[in-house]
Amino acid sequence: MFKIKNLEVSINNKKIIKDFNIEVNPGELHVIMGPNGSGKSTLTHTIAGKDDYIVEKGDISLNNKSIIDLDPEERAGKGIFVSFQYPISLPGVNNIYFLKEAVNSIRKYRGEKEISSVEFMKKIKSKIKDVDFDESFINRAVNDGFSGGEKKRNEILQLLMMEPEIAILDETDSGLDIDALRTVAEGINTFRNSKRSIILITHYQRILDYLKPDKIHILMDGSIVRTGDINLVNTLEEKGYKWIDKGEN
Ligand code: ADP
Ligand code: MG
Repeated sequence: MFKIKNLEVSINNKKIIKDFNIEVNPGELHVIMGPNGSGKSTLTHTIAGKDDYIVEKGDISLNNKSIIDLDPEERAGKGIFVSFQYPISLPGVNNIYFLKEAVNSIRKYRGEKEISSVEFMKKIKSKIKDVDFDESFINRAVNDGFSGGEKKRNEILQLLMMEPEIAILDETDSGLDIDALRTVAEGINTFRNSKRSIILITHYQRILDYLKPDKIHILMDGSIVRTGDINLVNTLEEKGYKWIDKGEN
């Protein structure tokens, strides 16, 4: 359903992603782990469709249709959601206004009518409970003055409101305390169903205790070098990434 084939991406003429392949079926949760600088965030920015990330080769497709010529709004409209490692703040933009615009632009893209204020308020009030926010957060400016953990929970709120087909979450668990980690994990589980898939980028095994990943991939120097199940994470925790460098099994 979501597929990346032979992808090669460069930034400023530097090749970062090389021969990258992944195939995520409906309902699956895939995890990408890898050392700093291996290209994980480059991959997320490329999927989001950011300028400066040049696709030199290969393809990214959703439901057998290529998305690489689409702009970021069109990709969101198709059902692709990307949360970034460093969420941006939008001072002066009310969170509730931002979410409503985001939800409506996706609806518009799909030819659906705008969400009514009543329906929207009902939905957001239920979703903020899922991320353990009190109502004041939805009336503040987007991420403005939010703590690291609050920004990450806000990303999950966006995810739950936008209901994409595939979510790519870049280090959504980094810097979270134990309670926030559980909230974020529960939010991901609430989102996930038999039709919605997730690619989660993480450094830590901890969040995976709450989730049930289907596959673990290890990214090194722009390519997936290993794919396995949860046992791969345990081996990594024990031996680190150097073990892969040495080519051991
Ligand atoms: P990760 O998220 O796995 O830590 P990144 O995707 O952020 O890795 O970075 C991968 C590599 O791409 C790094 O070597 C980084 O320095 C390089 N890189 C990222 N952005 C740029 C840029 N704008 N110009 C040049 N190199 C970049
Ligand atoms: Mg990164």
